[in-house]
Amino acid sequence: MSNVTMPLSAAPYALVQGRSQLSLWLVLSLCLLLCLPGSPASAASDRPIDLLELSQAQLLFPNAQVMAKAEGELPTRRVFGDDGVVGYVFLSDDITAMPAYSGKPIRILIGLGIDAHIRSTKILEHEEPILVIGITDQDLTNFTDQYNGVEAYTRVRIGAHDREGYLGVDGITGATITAMVMNASIMKSAKAVSNELGLPLELENEPTMIASPATGAGKPLPAEEPIWVERWQEQKVELVLLCSALALLMIILFFQDWLVVHPVLFQRVRIGYLLFTLVFLGIYCKAQLSVINLVAFMRILFGGFTWETLLIDPMIFLLWGFVAVSIILWGRGVFCGWLCPFGAAQELIHKVAEKMQWPSWEFPGMVHERLWAIKYLLLIALVGLSLESMHYAARLAEVEPFKTVFVMRFNRELWFVAWAGLLLVVAVFNSKFYCKYLCPLGAGLSFFTRFRIFDWLRRRKECGKPCQSCAAGCQISAIKPTGEIIDNECHYCLECQVTYFDDKRCPPLVDKRKKRERREKRAIEVISTDQTTL
Ligand code: SF4
Ligand code: SF4
Repeated sequence: MSNVTMPLSAAPYALVQGRSQLSLWLVLSLCLLLCLPGSPASAASDRPIDLLELSQAQLLFPNAQVMAKAEGELPTRRVFGDDGVVGYVFLSDDITAMPAYSGKPIRILIGLGIDAHIRSTKILEHEEPILVIGITDQDLTNFTDQYNGVEAYTRVRIGAHDREGYLGVDGITGATITAMVMNASIMKSAKAVSNELGLPLELENEPTMIASPATGAGKPLPAEEPIWVERWQEQKVELVLLCSALALLMIILFFQDWLVVHPVLFQRVRIGYLLFTLVFLGIYCKAQLSVINLVAFMRILFGGFTWETLLIDPMIFLLWGFVAVSIILWGRGVFCGWLCPFGAAQELIHKVAEKMQWPSWEFPGMVHERLWAIKYLLLIALVGLSLESMHYAARLAEVEPFKTVFVMRFNRELWFVAWAGLLLVVAVFNSKFYCKYLCPLGAGLSFFTRFRIFDWLRRRKECGKPCQSCAAGCQISAIKPTGEIIDNECHYCLECQVTYFDDKRCPPLVDKRKKRERREKRAIEVISTDQTTL
């Protein structure tokens, strides 16, 4: 649903990606965008409430006859019916412009009675990507209908049905963050308006003494916790596990040279980690990063940064924090090779297929390199579309199968399920096909790889000249025939480093080992000949 019933200024942001020409394109886009009318730099001062029409107020107050500016600083309209004032209307993003998942606030029209109870609400506009496909208008209406009749001072929490002092409402399956932001937007703005207008009159001088269905009349309330604090508390077990796993990954990376010389141990650690990523991060926590996160983050940066919006999903926040650090240290490969649930799913599937000795194929080098362009083109298209609207960008972002697989667990329309299933089946025969050619998130992350500090993937002068052992074993063909690793494409799986140190697989080491063995054998022969002579 994205019922645009009033004009909105365009939302600017830019997204960068992996090739220098493309990044130039994007920087130019950003500059252009910042100059566009309607960008934050040039936003008009008119408030959306000024454009509110009586017919919209009548959606909430059917007997509304006239609207007039209400007293006070907040942009609120007083609504008159046949018998005088019937209530107030206002827009949530005029009062508390809290960015949601898309990086833009959700615009909800709220009708508040003179008794400080919410009469009705209506979502006028949003750009929530999660809602574009898969969640219906009726789902949203069902959600906001839960606020009808709720007093503005009530502490409302999603799912807090059994929590003392709170009124619990049901969330929206697959759109938890969006629902939480809507909840906060409705209740914070209703409370702010009620406070300013002194609603209801008897509470005028005692704003913390609340007559509320959730708390009981006149009961003093402690200060309300920000939503993000509650989210972090709710998920503390998962967060401890995630932090432990990230710490383990740091240890693996810092001691990679020691680990890769123990191939059996390395393979066990790697498969164990991929299983953790797939099962815990992907299936259990649904903590799959998406290109939409990147786009939304840029929108938050340009459209009014608040930590609360970023902190509201702690797993995603921690993962992005780790990704930022790991990209600066090692490149984008650490996320793609170790922490992406869909990447892990593809890799594990391909490993099983290899074990079963099923056929596998790769495109010829020339074709392979040209197919890389697809993911960068998808990223550019996504950025371009999102300049117009997140709605369009979200539709194109459906090229990502992540939502189908992890968020909705294949419980979607056949088309999406078929697409996700096809990508997983292709991974059986062509290792990480989706990552190599189609993933706009991988394309976006690879741009930042150019800023990495360490280059710990070792190469020999013989690599590519003529040795191709590592290149043949690279799961995503990220090693040039000339031997260099293509940093933008590398997934940091460390497989080539296992080969590098293996004196049974790395030809220069095999030569050295054979020479050493021959020397040792000759020495033994000389000693035994000398002993025989004596
Ligand atoms: S390329 Fe995309 S799907 Fe593959 S591992 Fe990276 S982010 Fe995940
Ligand atoms: S084999 Fe080496 S070059 Fe290829 S993805 Fe793994 S770490 Fe990168």
